[in-house]
Amino acid sequence: MRLIFLGPPGAGKGTQARVLEERFGAKHVSTGDILRANRTAGTPLGREAEGYMARGELVPDTVIIGMIEHELETCAAGFIMDGFPRTLAQAEAFDALLARRGWDLDAAVLFVADRATLIARLSARWTNPRNGRTYNALSNPPRVAGIDDDDGGPLVQRDDDRAETVATRLAEYEAKTEPLVEYYRRRGQLIAVDGLLAVQDVTRALLGALGLEATSS
Ligand code: AMP
Repeated sequence: MRLIFLGPPGAGKGTQARVLEERFGAKHVSTGDILRANRTAGTPLGREAEGYMARGELVPDTVIIGMIEHELETCAAGFIMDGFPRTLAQAEAFDALLARRGWDLDAAVLFVADRATLIARLSARWTNPRNGRTYNALSNPPRVAGIDDDDGGPLVQRDDDRAETVATRLAEYEAKTEPLVEYYRRRGQLIAVDGLLAVQDVTRALLGALGLEATSS
């Protein structure tokens, strides 16, 4: 399984990537999670990225491409790219990295969601900073508010889920990432799923579109 997950912040990419990783063993690669881990650890990469992240802007392509090149070393069993590529330059560099390994992409999956829903979801999002698992205070709350169901540790709200930063992130998506929809569509690799459905229904639609499971099951 070699997939790219495309779509604006809050569309459900991370949630579905975790489901597929657990079910199929392909590696969930979230560039946002990798950057946040580096920021927390205070690495040079984290220090370089933190200003862009705090403003809701994209981190420069060269930084991201280097990170992915390194990450692909651990993707022999397949991958689900969550939040990468986000620019045309990243997509082209990724093509070259895959070609070098003789790896084909199965599909680029677009998670479709309207702006109002994305803003509502991001402001209700609570994250386990230890593993990236997310909850929604309204539609998918943890059993105890502010506490992760599995590890019992605290949940946090991401700084960049604040309203001002969300607006910049959505604008960055529209200007720089949305053109990738056409890029993958032209190559016949694009699959679109409705990101507004319940989590299990998105999974079902996704697996159906990938030919991995009947949509009615
Ligand atoms: P995410 O968790 O995917 O929403 O990413 C959080 C932040 O990390 C983004 O707002 C960007 O600042 C940065 N980021 C993550 N992935 C990328 C990428 N592929 N290209 C550039 N910046 C990225």
